[in-house]
Order: sequence, then structure tokens, then C-alpha cells
Amino acid sequence: MALTGPSVKLVDPRDLLEMLRQHPLTAPFNLALYSEQHGRKGLLQAMREACSPFDGERLCTTECFQAWEENLSQALLTSQPVVRSCPRGLIGFIIPLPDSKGLPDCLIGGGVPERKPTVKSGALDGEIPADEVIIEAEAPRLPSLTEAETTAEEISRVLPRLLEQQVHTLSLARTTRRLEAVQKLARDLADSKDSEQAMAVVSEALVVLFNLPRILIALQQPGHTMTVHSTLGLAPDSFRLDQKRLADYLVKSSGHPETLSDSDLEALFPGLETSSAWIFPLVENDNRYGAIAILDVDLHGRDQALIELLVNRMATRLESLKTAEGHLRERQSSGRLVSMISSLSLVESRQELYRQILGLSAELLTATSGSLMLLDSNDGTLKIAVAKGMTPSLAKAMSVSYGEGIAGRVAKSGFPMLVNDIERDKRVATRNRPRFKTKSFVSLPLELENRLVGVLNLADKSSGDNFTEADLNLVQTFAKHAVLMLKRVAILEKAGQLEKLAITDPLTGLYNRRFLENRLQEEFSRSQRQQQSFCLIMSDLDNFKIYNDICGHLAGDDALRKAAQLMRRSAREMDIATRYGGEEFCLILPGTDKQESVFVGERIRHAIESESFPGESHLPLGRLTTSLGIAAFPSDGVTADELIHAADLALYRAKAMGRNRLVLYDPSMENQALLAYRDSQHN
Ligand code: GH3
Ligand code: MG
Ligand code: MG
Repeated sequence: MALTGPSVKLVDPRDLLEMLRQHPLTAPFNLALYSEQHGRKGLLQAMREACSPFDGERLCTTECFQAWEENLSQALLTSQPVVRSCPRGLIGFIIPLPDSKGLPDCLIGGGVPERKPTVKSGALDGEIPADEVIIEAEAPRLPSLTEAETTAEEISRVLPRLLEQQVHTLSLARTTRRLEAVQKLARDLADSKDSEQAMAVVSEALVVLFNLPRILIALQQPGHTMTVHSTLGLAPDSFRLDQKRLADYLVKSSGHPETLSDSDLEALFPGLETSSAWIFPLVENDNRYGAIAILDVDLHGRDQALIELLVNRMATRLESLKTAEGHLRERQSSGRLVSMISSLSLVESRQELYRQILGLSAELLTATSGSLMLLDSNDGTLKIAVAKGMTPSLAKAMSVSYGEGIAGRVAKSGFPMLVNDIERDKRVATRNRPRFKTKSFVSLPLELENRLVGVLNLADKSSGDNFTEADLNLVQTFAKHAVLMLKRVAILEKAGQLEKLAITDPLTGLYNRRFLENRLQEEFSRSQRQQQSFCLIMSDLDNFKIYNDICGHLAGDDALRKAAQLMRRSAREMDIATRYGGEEFCLILPGTDKQESVFVGERIRHAIESESFPGESHLPLGRLTTSLGIAAFPSDGVTADELIHAADLALYRAKAMGRNRLVLYDPSMENQALLAYRDSQHN
């Protein structure tokens, strides 16, 4: 037979149909093509095409359909045309096409009323005398059944030659036109600004250029949902999309177009009525963006290739749009990274730093839960230092052993883990715990100078999406810099401790004399600036030497500690209590005048007097007491030395007056007698 060889596969059934329609032999008939692979549905479709122009749906009765089915089997079995007249007096034919791959199996013609030898009265269906009207109007063109049989045989005879000579050329010319158009469209696609625009270009091309009756485009959305975006020629609510099945289908797909079986079709698009469906996956670099389904068309090889080209271009564009979005996000995030890291440099404590590292990493990746675990080198476990999206008590209770569980393994391996599906990932394969919303997470080791510090875990992206490699890279970069801050904070904390050590008195915990001297300087300049007064109280425990002698040095120390506490408590929040030396204390009372300072001093005196100290009854006064002297800035002195000297003099006046009292400085104290008394006490 002439129709063999590779060229035949290139025949486009629609070209064939168009060419046959133009042939004078077929002129009165409506034509359709039928392929056996489309089964009964395909036959019904072909019948409608062939008959409907005459009387729409009304012709396709069950009986008529069954008759067509029988005729079809006969034609296919005998490879001979079958001509029939239907119960309504319409002539139809089925002509088997030359047996060849890529060609439909039959040409179906119909919809032409039979010319009867005499026009009888009565309607075709008993209602309207349509036959009479039609016969009168179109009588010259109507064939009789015998003429139709001859025509069918004639068509059958010329078909092979027609196919060989013309169809191929016609089809080629059309393909060339389409190829040019597709190339132009590919450029439009490359310019499309977003997926919506890319989709519009492609769907328009499919309809206009390829004359496709019905298509649908399903596109992947963030969060792994697949939605139908374009349903040309389809009522959107006439069918459903099984997102999960389509996603699974795409994962298994080779990336090339294929026809869907009836069962696949029903599974992917429940309720969708179609005789056939081609599915073109939108896949690029292993990323599955969705699929385009082309319905009710027996796609010709060349069109299939062209559509595939277009669909591939669309996938490429979707990929580059996504990458561009990624780059944009990356640029934005690198700016954010810098500001985040610099905000960390303000942190001064470890705990705060841990809190910030977790908080900022979660913000970077839009993770709604996570934890920062620290390696406890004592018992080799990882314990949660800070957690997000978890109750603090649960976080506190959780710990994992080094090398065990996900965090433990990340700690041991030193490598981060990005998991998309905790249940399926072979490395983890554990059931998703109920406190996590999604199955994707990242877990990365925190290392400082090649030493493991802990593990950072992030989960539950707010969009519901999986974490990506880009996410992991971003958070790793951030964590690397953030961990360096730990070193800084450790130094700060140590310095803070040292500083504290340097300014506190170890026995009483009060500030020491060095601190007092510095603080006094500050107080002078501040008070001068603000033109405020401040007071200094000097306090010296009475007969403390005796107390020591009676009770022992250790009890003396206890008494000193107790006295210091009483001082601290009796003073106000803003007052600064220091141990000046031995059993002497000095208090700075900022922004306070003499009058107010008397209240504070008296409170101190009273507190010590009222407190019971072991063995105090043996003291000359029967109790452990203190004497206090007060001097005020600027009236009693404008330098530290002057003020201390003044307070000291007042204190000695208090001693001289019998102890356990408070004395305000008075310039009259600067007399030789008091000075002599003080000096005698010092030596
Ligand atoms: P006065 O009422 O005149 O102040 O009599 P006093 O005994 O307190 O006299 P003085 O100030 O000269 O004696 C201070 C005594 O305080 C000397 C020492 O035994 C005792 N002391 C000083 N520093 C400490 C200390 O750190 N621990 C103990 N346990 N005793 C101390
Ligand atoms: Mg003393
Ligand atoms: Mg004393």
C-alpha cells in the first residue's frame, strides 16, 4: 500500500479532514474521523460531528448509536465502506482508512437526508414535515442511498492517493507556519513578567494557533497546592482536580507529553468529560510546575512536538521567574543578614544571644517553630537553651544524646540536614511529631573555632512550603556569623565579672573604696552640672575592736556582713553604699540635701542598733551600734577630699559625744581639739 513509511506518521488528521471536506465527492456530507483507540466515546463524538449540523442532539438516540456501532464493526472487519440510512432518513457512511500508524481508522460522513424516489407525506419524526421543505429546497444536491454507496466507494478508492499526494504537503506547510509562530511566541514567553502572563501566552497560542477546542492548565502554587488556572472551553465547576494525584503523576512523569488512559483521566480530573486527553508536564530541572492538558484532540506528531516546544519554553520561563524571585529574595536577605548580624553585636549576655540567634534565623526562613540546643559537655547531651513554638516547660525537659535523634546526629556529623519529608526521608524516616505542622525542617550544627557549641533546628515554614537549599545556605551564613558573637559575649561576660570583682568588697558585697572614689568624682561633676546638692555619710561601728575581742574575728566578720546588709536596706535605691575600710562605711546620697540625709542616716543607725548581734551585750553600750557623720556638697566641701574630711570630722564628733549617734558637719568642728582627738584615734 502507498501509505507506509515514516512520512505517513506525519499526517495530521485535521489536515486530512480539511482536505477531504474540500473534495467534491464529499461535498454534501458532514465529515468526522474516528480512531479505534478512542472507543465508544470517540464514536459518539464523531457521530455528533457528522450528524449534529443537521439536527443537533436529537439524532443521537441509543438505537441509532447502536446501529452505527454495528456498521463500524462491519466496516473495520471488511475494510469496505458501509453506507446506511438512519431511522430519520439521513444517509451516513463509514469508510475505513488505509491501515497505517498515525492515521485515524475511519472516515465518518453523515447528516444528509436521503433522496427518496417519491416525496411522501409525513414528517421524519411525525412532527414537522422537514423532509418536504428540505427536499424542495435542496433537491438537486441530495443523493439517493445507491448514489451514496457509489460515492463512498469512490472516496474509499481515491483516499490512498489523496493522502499520499496532498495531505503531507498541506500538513508540512501548516507546520512551518506554526513553527514560525511558536518561535515568536517563545520570545513573548521569555518576556513574560509572571506565571500568569506566561500562561496567557501559551493558552492563547494553543487555542488560536493549534485550534484546540479544550485545554486546562494546572499550576503549582506555594505550599504544594496545584490549582487549575485556565480552562478554555471547559466549565470550571464541571470537574475537579485531584491535586495529590496530579502531583504524584508529575513526580513519576518522564517530562514528555503522553495520552492519559481513561482511568488516569478519571483519577486526575474527576468528572471531566472528554474523549481523549494529552498531558504536557511543565517540568524544568526536576522542578514540576504543573501540567497542560489538551482534550478531545488526536494530536498529530508534528503539533505534539510544537506544543511540547512551547510548553517547555513556558516551564523554562517559570523556572527563571522563580530563580529571579529567589535572587531578589537573596539580595533582600543579604541586606537583612547584615543588619541582623549587626543587631547581634549589641547583645551582652549569652542567653539573650541564643534567643536572638533563634529568633532571627526563624525570621530569615519564616519558620514558625524551632529550637537552639546547646551541647552540655558534662553529660554529652544537647539541651534546649531557647525554643520557639514550644511550651517552655516542654523545652526545658527535652534533651537528646550526642549522636542520637536528628539533632544528635547533626551534632555528631557536623553536617546540616535539610529534610523535605520527615516520614519518607531515608536518613530520618520517623513519624512526624504532632507538635509540627509540616514535615520539612532544617537542622544545623553551630560551631565555634571547630568546636561544637550546639544545634539550631527550624521547622514549619509559615507558608507551609518545604525548606529549600537556598534557605539552608542563608541560615548557615547567618549562624556562622552569629556564633562568632558568642565569643564576644563570653569576653564581655568575663570582663563584666572581673569588673564586678574589681569594684566590690568580697566580705560584704558592697562597693569598695576604689569604686567610691570614682563614683564620687562622677557625683561631683553631675551635681555641679545640675546644680544639685548631694550628701556623704560616714559610718563607723562603735567599739568594734572590743566586739572582735569578745566574740572572735569570725563573729566580727558576720557582724560586718549583717551591718552592711542593714545599711543597704536602710538606704534608698539610688543611694550608693560602700565599705570604706575595716568597720567603716561610706554612703553617697545623690541629689539629697542635709535634711533628707538625716532621715537616711537615722534609719541606718536605728537599724543597726535594733538588730541583735551575738555577744553584743558585753559591749560598753550593751548593743552593737554605729556612729555617723554627714557632710553635704557643696556647702561642706567641693572636692572628694574636702567632703570626706568633713564627714569624717562629723563622725568623730559623734564618737566624742558618746557614739551611737548621727552628727552633721559644722565648720566649727575644724578646731584643734577635735582634730587632735581624731588623730589620736587613728594612731
Ligand atoms: P570606735 O568606737 O572608736 O570606732 O572603736 P573601735 O573599736 O571600733 O575602734 P577602731 O575603729 O580603732 O577599731 C576597728 C576594729 O575593727 C579593728 C579591728 O579589730 C576591727 N576590724 C576591722 N576590719 C575588720 C574585719 O574585716 N573583720 C573583723 N572581724 N574585724 C575588723
Ligand atoms: Mg574604725
Ligand atoms: Mg569603730
